[in-house]
Amino acid sequence: MENQDHPLKLYNSLTRQVEPFVPQDASRVTMYNCGPTVYSYAHIGNARAAVVADVLFRVLRHIYGEDAVEYARNITDVDDRIIAAATEQGVPISEITEKYAKVYQDDLAALNCLPPTQEPKATEHIGGMIDLIETLLADGYAYATDGHVFFDVSKYEDYGKLSGNTLENLRKGDRVGEGEVARKKNAADFVLWKPELNGVGWDAPFGRGRPGWHIECSAMAKAELDETIDIHCGGIDLKFPHHENEIAQSNCAHGKPMANYWVHNEFLQMGKDKMSKSLGNVVLVHDLLKEWDGEVIRLALLKAHYRSELVWSEALLRESKAQLDRMYRAWLELQKGIWPPDEVFSEVLPDELCDDLQVPNLLARFSDQRSFAKTMHEGYQDVTDADEKSLATSKAKISTVTADAVFTFIDNLRYLGLLQRDPEEWFRGNASEDEEQLLADYQDARQKALQAKASGDKVGMGKAFAASDAIREELKERGFVIETAPDGTSKLRRD
Ligand SMILES: [Zn+2]
Repeated sequence: MENQDHPLKLYNSLTRQVEPFVPQDASRVTMYNCGPTVYSYAHIGNARAAVVADVLFRVLRHIYGEDAVEYARNITDVDDRIIAAATEQGVPISEITEKYAKVYQDDLAALNCLPPTQEPKATEHIGGMIDLIETLLADGYAYATDGHVFFDVSKYEDYGKLSGNTLENLRKGDRVGEGEVARKKNAADFVLWKPELNGVGWDAPFGRGRPGWHIECSAMAKAELDETIDIHCGGIDLKFPHHENEIAQSNCAHGKPMANYWVHNEFLQMGKDKMSKSLGNVVLVHDLLKEWDGEVIRLALLKAHYRSELVWSEALLRESKAQLDRMYRAWLELQKGIWPPDEVFSEVLPDELCDDLQVPNLLARFSDQRSFAKTMHEGYQDVTDADEKSLATSKAKISTVTADAVFTFIDNLRYLGLLQRDPEEWFRGNASEDEEQLLADYQDARQKALQAKASGDKVGMGKAFAASDAIREELKERGFVIETAPDGTSKLRRD
């Protein structure tokens, strides 16, 4: 049964089924997403998880109100790889982490991701982590040995419930540092606390040291949101062991579920392969943004449903660029009044998004709507032969239907964080000052040519036209075409 107040349905990884999403408190909906470990640039797989979470965040804000959703995404700013990079470069860890945290935020902003409401740093929550570990030790869920504290998985009977993991998988452990294996009671036990490394550490009742990765998220989710949050999201690669371990720690320390809904996005594949450092096929968001508009990358990331694998390719980016051009073109035509503008934007969340964020189905609707709009537009032109009265009636009818269909679609795309720019600006692309100057020179040359023509100066006219042609060519090579309006003004458009 549809619930008017809670229209969203989500696939819950914990129960393995699509469920109506009902928050604990509709005036304070909470979601947590595992953020980056900031020691290098984010890759496109990281971006997929962030964009999926951003769509969910936008949908929740729409349903429950912009101020009713708290979205925390952490920054892991203490980690062995960060410490290693800092030691190698002879700088404090903060120098590495601040740089890459900023890069991450800028990359995601370029992909139209809204900033989360909270962005806690692990190093600012060490006290909360120590408290959690002390509780787990006191209650017998953890044990300390030789400067380390481990979580004892045999003490938590639901361990493995999220991932459905077998004991065999569990034996593999995770991010196991040298010497940790020998200290563990069970192979699947994971580290909560370990001794300081290269001088990086904090004082704690169980010895000076640094936190394990999993305990960071448990402490931050509790401090920033609640002991039980509504939604925990993240990439499927984090489901085990990271999220499994977060659940074990939080559930045992608090005696209640860590999150009611778990939302995981699938892998991003490079052709047939999984993207991995060892295969050398890692694509960085930072590099992609040098060549592609952030909105193109965002659309490409949304082309597959979040629970399907997404095959990443250059062709996917080209297709996304062409699709965005078509959408912005439709919008531009509306603005130009070919189809009369309609001031009323719908406030109704598209059905596709309510249905477990079926973004590809929503995008597919555009093709239908566009061909529909095109047919109607052609119909509009056909009636020009009709008599005055029926012409006026048909024009009004067809135009309204067409405009509404396209407008509804444009409006729907806002929930996806797409079409965030003015269409004119979109087609102008990212023309540099240099290119804008070339356009000004072009207009000057055209002006001179027309003046020379008027005064009968054929030589002057030829020179000026040649100059304007040369500038047109130069701009063409830079990927711009010059569009000149009937009133003589010109502007640049990305080819
Ligand atoms: Zn996490």
